[in-house]
Amino acid sequence: MTKPLSHTVTRPGRLHGDPDVNIPVAEDLATVPGVPQDPADVAFFSREYPLETQAIDKSADRQWAVVTQSHDIDDFRKVHDERMEPMYEAALVSGDIEPTGTPTPGEDLTDDIRRMAREMGFGEVGFTKHDRHYTYAGKKRWAKYEHAICLALEQDYCKTQTGPSPDADQARFETYETQQALCLKLAEYLRSRGYHAQVHDGSDCSGPYIPLFVEAGLGQLGANGQLLSPHFGSRSRLMLVTTDAPVTYDKPEDYGIQKFCQQCQVCVNRCPGRALVRDKVWWRGVRKNKVIYERCRPVMVTYHGCAVCMIVCPVQRYGMKPVMERYVESGEVLGKDTENLEGYSLIGKGYFGHGELPRFNRDFFEFPKGREEDWLFKKFKEKLNSTGVPDQSELVDFATDVKKILEKGETTFDIA
Ligand code: SF4
Ligand code: SF4
Repeated sequence: MTKPLSHTVTRPGRLHGDPDVNIPVAEDLATVPGVPQDPADVAFFSREYPLETQAIDKSADRQWAVVTQSHDIDDFRKVHDERMEPMYEAALVSGDIEPTGTPTPGEDLTDDIRRMAREMGFGEVGFTKHDRHYTYAGKKRWAKYEHAICLALEQDYCKTQTGPSPDADQARFETYETQQALCLKLAEYLRSRGYHAQVHDGSDCSGPYIPLFVEAGLGQLGANGQLLSPHFGSRSRLMLVTTDAPVTYDKPEDYGIQKFCQQCQVCVNRCPGRALVRDKVWWRGVRKNKVIYERCRPVMVTYHGCAVCMIVCPVQRYGMKPVMERYVESGEVLGKDTENLEGYSLIGKGYFGHGELPRFNRDFFEFPKGREEDWLFKKFKEKLNSTGVPDQSELVDFATDVKKILEKGETTFDIA
């Protein structure tokens, strides 16, 4: 039976020049535009417990990940890293480059930037305040400008559906590479119009970008912890260009995702690591389904970035419009309970159809946790407990390792 409608969200088509799409939102899915949040809590947690990048906060698992990950795309990665290196360097200093053109008083560049970014191939483009609550502690001094241009570049559809696989993994890196080059170009364009622009990497992020994308109306947060945007769900890579150019901010939208995810739950049920949770919780002032990092990380590392939670999402597979239309028509979640949507294979473990999940023993989830120095200290305490005070040379080794880690940390902060 057809459900009553709450409202319709109208968005630009998938590609530049495509007609607008209308996404119907059923009355029983309507909540709030963007995400339910408590601004006072967001501010409190940001001030007292500032966010930090995974590269620092979870640094203990980096070396373990390099050793544990599958090595069948190492050659591809090597070439990718060589191509990315100069673009990372360029992004790092991009905010310090002076404009080459002269601004026109009273102008608003929103439409020009949006058109240019869409012509470049970005599927979603939006404008919002660069909210420092969502900037990592080590990047706060680096990040310069107050307006954020949110840019999502679609990742190859066919390659992604094969995941977890080497092809899907490559599609991810190819998208990072393309978008980094495009964002550097967009920054050049802003300078030619007389303004500053700073490029925020897609992989070495300056903060979690999803809250800004939600605020700019480009999607809502899914139960898989990712941005569900209208045309490609979470099958995209996100980047920011921040600027002092005059722009007009977009507004958050209610696509119905908050409640739809509670009906759907496909990613929660299909996650090989059981890292996704059914119920939403308040976390740092935002109501969301919180991903459990410690359950996800070993699966991601071992199986080509995993991303089962992206691949089995109906919004990613079919697009938000048909998914929401089906829900309005029948109350059904398009593709749910079908092999086509829910089946996947893990290399070396086999195929898992609807209702089946792989099993891992406890050791699979044992990996170095937290910051590198904290992990070292944890191991040191265990040693003290089991074998007593180590000899002088072991103590010196321990102190040397800690010093090396701290020096690395200081370098990271200096750059930032
Ligand atoms: S990446 Fe894989 S393990 Fe991690 S949350 Fe998604 S489905 Fe689960
Ligand atoms: S799979 Fe379903 S529950 Fe998970 S993010 Fe996509 S729509 Fe939401």
